[in-house]
Amino acid sequence: MQNPYKNAVKQLEQIAKILKLDKNTVEKLKFPEKLIKKNLKVKMDNGKTKTFKAFRSQHCNVKGPYKGGIRFHPQVSEDEVKALSMWMTWKCSVVSIPYGGGKGGIICNPKEMSQGEIERLSRAYMKAIASYIGPWVDVPAPDVNTNAQIMAWMVDEYIKVAKGQSDKLTKWGNVGVNPIAVITGKPIELGGSQGRTEATAQGGIYVLQELVKKLSWQTNKTTIAIQGFGNAGFWFANLAQDLGFKIVAVSDSKGGVLMKSGKWKMRKVLEHKQKTTSVIGFPGSKKITNEELLTSNCDVLVPAALEHVITAKNAKKIKAKVIIELANGPVTPEADEILDKKGVIDIPGILANAGGVTVSYFEWVQNLSGYYWGKEEVLEKLKKIMIKAFGEFWKKHKELKTTFRMAAYALAVDRVVKALKIRGGSNL
Ligand code: NAD
Repeated sequence: MQNPYKNAVKQLEQIAKILKLDKNTVEKLKFPEKLIKKNLKVKMDNGKTKTFKAFRSQHCNVKGPYKGGIRFHPQVSEDEVKALSMWMTWKCSVVSIPYGGGKGGIICNPKEMSQGEIERLSRAYMKAIASYIGPWVDVPAPDVNTNAQIMAWMVDEYIKVAKGQSDKLTKWGNVGVNPIAVITGKPIELGGSQGRTEATAQGGIYVLQELVKKLSWQTNKTTIAIQGFGNAGFWFANLAQDLGFKIVAVSDSKGGVLMKSGKWKMRKVLEHKQKTTSVIGFPGSKKITNEELLTSNCDVLVPAALEHVITAKNAKKIKAKVIIELANGPVTPEADEILDKKGVIDIPGILANAGGVTVSYFEWVQNLSGYYWGKEEVLEKLKKIMIKAFGEFWKKHKELKTTFRMAAYALAVDRVVKALKIRGGSNL
């Protein structure tokens, strides 16, 4: 069984060697600055109270407030949240946005819960972590199985809790910090940003387009297989198809479907999933497993579900020439080595899926300034950031002659370490 935190630390140690970081710096970056653990008591529809384990990991805030999503999933664990918060520190640094890394999660299965139960769980979580977060402290967002509605409930609960705390009130009361800036990925009606829903995928698309240019590939001849058909996966499939890329396979937690001709409409596949709960059975498609999707014939493989799906076991069988990691941590360090030897271009999640946190940053800026931008402006600003980060990453890869992952890590970790050092040696 893979441990995401052990893998995240392994990656940090790998880059520490390349950057020749001293031991104290590595020690400082290895552990989250704070790990909040809570037991949430929630009244279920049957009248019984159920306890849910919940976490918030605050990895590093040297460059700005902690930032990172909240995941609802049965596989959430302390180590998963710790790893994801470290990856968030690197991600914000790769795209040069002024945040550190955080991540939250609740061990639960929202698929077996009613909307009322999910709302009570979301509010209980916010009540438990409200005093550890804030617009200038730690700014959560959606992740797997959480969405804009859940963010709205959480903002509402945060405001209720904070109103009961005089210290927080004085902080906002006269000084005027907008409390809705405590969370991003909110509905538009509640201060959400235009373009946030599809931002993660859109950022990945800008990266893909840059890569296609570098490789001199033709869009309409480039085939793509996507694992995960949620926020990140569906939007990537839809946007890529609109640009003329050929989507040949998609999947969700129940399995996948293959359509070699690429002649299907992603919006229709989404409608099918909404009606039947899965992409399986889409008319004209062939049923495949998730494992078959990962090793299917395609030019670009897009893992957009969970971590550790590409391991030492299946890496040899991967046929894609390019991997765009929309998921966080889908490739293990052992698989990394194998893919690198095979010459696969693997764009790490800390760059490929940074579009989401970048538009979250825009949302926060808009909330704090009270000035809202149109979608075109959001996308233009996102494109600029993603293209710049991709260019720096590509250059670093050539310069260091290392793996693609380590090139992105070199950019990210070096910036964080420089910030730590500039703040003063006592930190180390
Ligand atoms: P989501 O809940 O909207 O969708 C997840 C999808 O993955 C669903 O289609 C689900 O059926 C599928 N899935 C779950 N378990 C699976 C399994 N074992 N095999 C195959 N498919 C499985 O979540 P999302 O927001 O799209 O997040 C997906 C990934 O992208 C996560 O790793 C997340 O951390 C990462 N990510 C998301 C964002 C964002 O803004 N949403 C930003 C950055 C990174």
